Amino acid sequence: HRLPNFCAGPAAIPTPVLMRAQEELLDWQGRGLSVMEMSHRSKDYIAITQKAETQLRSLMEIPDNYKVLFLQGGASLQFSAIPLNLLNGGRADYLTTGAWSGKAIKEAQRYAALGLGEINLVATGKESNFTDVPAQSEWNISDDASYFHYCANETIHGLQIFEPPQVDAPIIVDMSSCILSQPIDVSKFGMIYAGAQKNIGPAGLVIVIIREDLLGQASEWCPMLLNYEHQVDKESMSNTPATYSWYLAGLVFDWLEEQGGIAAIGKINQQKAALLYDTIDNSTFYNNPVAPKHRSIMNVPFTLAYSNLDKVFLEESEKAGLLNLKGHRDVGGMRASIYNAVPLEWVQLLVDFMKDFEKKYA
Ligand code: PLP
Repeated sequence: HRLPNFCAGPAAIPTPVLMRAQEELLDWQGRGLSVMEMSHRSKDYIAITQKAETQLRSLMEIPDNYKVLFLQGGASLQFSAIPLNLLNGGRADYLTTGAWSGKAIKEAQRYAALGLGEINLVATGKESNFTDVPAQSEWNISDDASYFHYCANETIHGLQIFEPPQVDAPIIVDMSSCILSQPIDVSKFGMIYAGAQKNIGPAGLVIVIIREDLLGQASEWCPMLLNYEHQVDKESMSNTPATYSWYLAGLVFDWLEEQGGIAAIGKINQQKAALLYDTIDNSTFYNNPVAPKHRSIMNVPFTLAYSNLDKVFLEESEKAGLLNLKGHRDVGGMRASIYNAVPLEWVQLLVDFMKDFEKKYA
């Protein structure tokens, strides 16, 4: 009994992955114990982590001059780790396109206030209520930035930037809610990071993919656990890692390979998003305010023509077995998160429900 789950995070995990985890839970490969109970220094566990890294490298075609880390503290702790590792007395550029990139710059500004360097806001989409991104010709870009930070997919506002901006500084990108959803060219980025609980696996894990030349510049104030060079040296095991989440990420990577990899899943993601946006656009009852070229293919917020129907929509959708459609309180209305683990059939069930609801109440 598993129901269509449109949660923004922690999000749905593919059912075959959970079935395999269940199968292996008590006795992993005949060793008489669960992965949860293994030493992170054991040969078996190291093999699990190496397999996961090799798979991620192959799925994302990560070039050899990038290191891959499996850390803790979520994407939010990277908001601190980034200036602590990379600001280095210089100046960093930040683009604000919604709630998450807003939090990232706010955290970085705390380190600037300590004298670690300067933080420059290049542009903000606030005037449009984060439904659009200001044109790059209007950005206030620094000549000599240590790095340029942005969020590729604003989970709350449903706004996605599909191509990295053309800037000279190394690009640091938050891909928490869009990693592994469609092919990207890793070599265009200095660093990619993503909390696991959307497209990677359970919460408790954050992945950092960092170009080697960006290592070794951390501030002396940087906690060792946040120091990327240190974590590279320790193979993400400076302390006990999130062992079970890391293992489950490996099972998700197996599943992704079985689906045909990222290009194949990307095509399904496009179909899912098109089905949902077409339904919204072909009705006067539902609305999505985001500029079409920035509409997220992972998080689709929408409002109803009458907000007093929100409660009814949520009650009836839950009764119909469609879970977690409530929008974020900052945006209101509804939000359907349609990550990799959400099949096209679930989105079809959702749009069928939406059409029936519209007929009934419009
Ligand atoms: N960045 C984005 C785009 C997110 O969607 C989220 C969380 O949902 C975060 C950062 C924060 O992630 P975490 O809760 O792992 O710190």
